[in-house]
Amino acid sequence: MCLFCKIVNKEIPSNVVLENDHFLAFHDINPKAPVHILAIPKVHVESFHEVSPEIMAGMTPFIQEIARETGIDKSGYRVITNIGEDGGQEVKHLHFHILGGAKLKWEHFSDADPKDFI
Ligand code: AMP
Repeated sequence: MCLFCKIVNKEIPSNVVLENDHFLAFHDINPKAPVHILAIPKVHVESFHEVSPEIMAGMTPFIQEIARETGIDKSGYRVITNIGEDGGQEVKHLHFHILGGAKLKWEHFSDADPKDFI
């Protein structure tokens, strides 16, 4: 069973922010911003590339509610999902990073220099 399935099953503790029958949100253990929450489907889906439109239809309002609950809906926030090796996905259970609480940076996205590809 994967790490986030164990968190869903409460075999591994997490700091829960929001939960319903289908989704769970908890604080990232290694935060990269003042607010850094992970939102996951309870059912195991490997990554965004495999997710169904039905799950995304529920995930969207769930993420919006997390932003409201944590008070970052007005100030702004970022939603990221890493996919596969080049995407930097470490945990192979679909998760959305919700980052906010401060002005976020927008740089150093790849090892390659994008100007080399223009
Ligand atoms: P990614 O690189 O997109 O797969 O992100 C995985 C994220 O999971 C990282 O930001 C980790 O800090 C986070 N993480 C790993 N283990 C735990 C855990 N037990 N509880 C909360 N967050 C975790």
